[in-house]
Amino acid sequence: MKKTLWARLITCYLISVVLVFVFVNTYGMALLQKKLKKDQTNLLYKEASLISASYRGTLFDHEQSPDNLASQFRSINTYLNIRVWIVNRDGQIVADSSNIDNPPNVNLNDLDPGFLNKTISENTMFESLFNEPMLSIIRRVDYNFRLRGYIVLHSPMSEIQNKAYIYMDVINICFLIIFPLLFLIFIYIYYITAKPLKHLMKAAVEYGSGNYNYKINIKGPSEYRDLAAALSFMAQEISQLDDYQKKFVANISHDFRSPLTSIKGYAEAIMDGTIPPDMQNKYLNIILFETERLNKLTSSLLELNRFDNRSAMLDIVTFDINYIIKKTAESFEGACKAKKITLNLIFSSPETYVEADMGKIQQVLYNLIDNAIKFSHNNSEIKVSTEEKGEKVFVSVKDYGIGIPKDAIKKIWDRFYKTDASRGKDKKGTGLGLSIAKEIIQAHNENINVISTEGVGSEFIFTLKKSSE
Ligand code: ADP
Repeated sequence: MKKTLWARLITCYLISVVLVFVFVNTYGMALLQKKLKKDQTNLLYKEASLISASYRGTLFDHEQSPDNLASQFRSINTYLNIRVWIVNRDGQIVADSSNIDNPPNVNLNDLDPGFLNKTISENTMFESLFNEPMLSIIRRVDYNFRLRGYIVLHSPMSEIQNKAYIYMDVINICFLIIFPLLFLIFIYIYYITAKPLKHLMKAAVEYGSGNYNYKINIKGPSEYRDLAAALSFMAQEISQLDDYQKKFVANISHDFRSPLTSIKGYAEAIMDGTIPPDMQNKYLNIILFETERLNKLTSSLLELNRFDNRSAMLDIVTFDINYIIKKTAESFEGACKAKKITLNLIFSSPETYVEADMGKIQQVLYNLIDNAIKFSHNNSEIKVSTEEKGEKVFVSVKDYGIGIPKDAIKKIWDRFYKTDASRGKDKKGTGLGLSIAKEIIQAHNENINVISTEGVGSEFIFTLKKSSE
């Protein structure tokens, strides 16, 4: 049999029902009988004590006929089904509530010598005196410090048994009502647990086969709804990853193909003489430019891959960020001169020590300043500044160039993303510079952000941990 939830629930249910039923009808019954016997014994004692207290003086008085006394016990016999014997100190029965006129002419000491020394006796039969086993209690009666006799009370053992059966019948009838109700509860539990699981299973199969837009229609406990939400969130993420991968491959192919096409085209043209020797230098320069671009693209991809594999180990050292900014700025002197751009370095203190991977932070600065120059107009200004705030150092690269359109601001961090304006303007760009910058800053557990207005300019700000030394 398949171990389904339903099969397990039914097995649990049946085992519980049988166990409860057997337990209650065996151990429960034994406890009940014990309790009823104790109650009956107490009742007999109470009756015997009452009789003793009321008739102690006259009980064995020869002036008062034992027959008279016995008649007073008749009501006890009738209403409580208790048989009363008055027994004299020799063991002779002198009165019997069930046979007033003719008490049995029996000496109990002859029948059972130890009987009158007991206080309680179960299953008393006295051979033919009773026609069923009795529960008996024996109460000694003393008067004026002398033993006068005994009061012996009997009640049928079967009465206790019958009472126990009646109680058990009531309990079993209750079970007959409770068990089907319990079964309904089990069905309800099955319904609220198994039904949503089937939906979730179907959703997982749909997502597995690539249908990421499948909507999970689930009603039930909040745990299942949370699981459904998590599952569809996962599907969305996978779907995005899927889209991203497709886009990524398309972008790489495109970015590799266009320089390769021009390299191939120009090389062929040079070889077959379409380009005359005096023009060849110009086209060889283009080939060189495209090769450089391909080289940059490849190393950027490798860099990003290292971050993806979490294998980019940071070499954290303490260094002066202002000095690194100056060094990086120097390498852009030529580019700035070409566009007549002034690069202003503004530091809140002459030296600002930070704890970071120097080489990687230099790469971030390089990418940001490179972008700032690329997207600045001629004759404009670029400000690179550092400022200490609390435990952090804020580094800013600000330009007054073309700015970034509002709807592109979030996307500039995506791999291969380039705004439409920059596609036309910046042929050399790979769309990977900012992704790399972000990965590096995040690997330091720091933040990088941008404030930009289209047509006004952009400011990229990132934080670094201030050195505690
Ligand atoms: P790229 O190599 O193309 O510069 P990046 O990842 O560095 O790639 O930048 C992605 C895009 O973000 C750029 O193509 C450009 O559209 C936009 N961008 C980046 N920096 C600036 C800036 N300072 N001013 C205007 N646009 C920018």
